[in-house]
This record gives sequence, structure tokens and C-alpha cells, in this order.
Amino acid sequence: MPELPDVELARRSLRRWLLGAEVHAAVCSDARLTDPAPARLFARTLVGKTVTGISRRGKWLRLELDDGGRMFSHLGMTGGWARLAVEAPPLRFERARIDVVRRGRSSSVRYVDARRFGRLIGAHEDIADWSALGPDPLVDGIDVQGLSRALAKRRRAVKELLMDQRVVAGVGNILATEALWMARLDPRSPGNALLPGDVRALATALGRAIARELAEGRGCGSAEPGSFFVYGRAGEPCPRCATRLSSLVLGGRTSVFCAHCQVRRRARYTSR
Ligand SMILES: [Zn+2]
Repeated sequence: MPELPDVELARRSLRRWLLGAEVHAAVCSDARLTDPAPARLFARTLVGKTVTGISRRGKWLRLELDDGGRMFSHLGMTGGWARLAVEAPPLRFERARIDVVRRGRSSSVRYVDARRFGRLIGAHEDIADWSALGPDPLVDGIDVQGLSRALAKRRRAVKELLMDQRVVAGVGNILATEALWMARLDPRSPGNALLPGDVRALATALGRAIARELAEGRGCGSAEPGSFFVYGRAGEPCPRCATRLSSLVLGGRTSVFCAHCQVRRRARYTSR
């Protein structure tokens, strides 16, 4: 599933393909992606406009248009963008296309999404899903004080909090699992039980986990399972201490961790 590094790589590609481009044709063939708006809003938002910017917050992309319009794209579980020639036939699972002319050359940017959990939302202002996002580790940097305050208010498990897009934007199961292992923190530790050093370690680990996927240019979603420290490796030896890695389900998602070298903090305040 795409996480921050995957969406950032998509943004860089879209920037190369679309920045300064004029949209000549656009079509979305699947109203599930534009819901609750009709699929034709996709074309209406884009056609005849020039793309003036492409930005990202968390797992959301925003195409900015010269009339003030915006097209928001979320890749869901299996979404992705690709560039083809205008005359190229539709790709497998293609759901939308944007035909453009940029610097005198035409091309066609296609959106593919096998499972169709992605979103394509045309709007004239920022949508609530975008505005509600917490700080983005790349756009805003990771502010340890801010993260500390956000975690200290909450009793939920730190792993679930990291995946809450209002706490940190862009972190999914893979980044959270890897960062907690790097920071030596048990994913079940309640947010308000973390010590200042834990939050600092976590902020550093998140930055490292993101930088690692970006440097490989592969993102999380397309990485080989064996390229992660612990994600997807339950039952294998911990790369740090060789203890067999454990797994449990937290907030509906599988969490792999080392019960030996990832410390479990306990709540400082009893709740009842
Ligand atoms: Zn270990």
C-alpha cells in the first residue's frame, strides 16, 4: 500500500510530466473514484487549464490549476500514475487519463488502480481530508516538541497514533513498523507513556525510514518484502538481537516487532 515515500515519488514524476502543461483532454471512467461527485467533474476541473503546481501532504497529491481549481489524488491501496503516448491503448486497470501538451510535446498521463480505493476529487478549495492532515515529515519536517505534545495527549498505542494522519501525515503500517523498531519502542506503548528520549528517537527513526525508501527510489509499496528490517518478517530473527520477531494485530493492522529489544512503556496515568 502506498505510503509517504511512494506518494512523494509519484509527485516528482507528475511534476516532470505535468508542471506547466496544458490539459487538452481528461476523462475518468469510474465514478467510485470521484464519489460523491460524478466522474465528469474530473474532466470539467482539468480540461483547458494549465497545471501550475503539484504538491503533496501525507498520502495526498494536489494538482494546482491556473484558474484556482485543484485536483486531489489519493492512491488508496493500489493506485499509481504512469506516462504514455496519447495514442497508447488503455493500461490494465486504467481508471482515468489526462492528455496534455507541455513544451510543444503531447503525452498522456494515466491513473491505474486495480482495487479502486483511490480518490480523484476536483475542487476550488482545499478539501477537508487535506486540511485536516497533521505535519508532513518532508514538507514541514518532524518537530519533536509538536510530536511530543500530540502523543502525550493520547492513551492509544503509539503505533496507531503514528498511523493517525492528524498526528503525522503519510505514515502507514510499513513506516510505523520500521520506525518503531529503529527507535527500539514496543508498538503497544501508550502515547502518553513515552519519555522525551523516546519521542526524539522516534522522530529520527521516521526520518531515516522515509529517507531510506526515497533513496532507493522504490517507495514502500513496491519494495521487496526482504528489504525491510522487520516489516513482513514475523518469525525471522531480529536483525539487531536475533530474537524471533513477534507479531500482533493493533488497530486492525499486523505489527511485527522484537519483544526483546523494543521497550514497552507503561501508562503513567491509570485511566480507571
Ligand atoms: Zn531485537
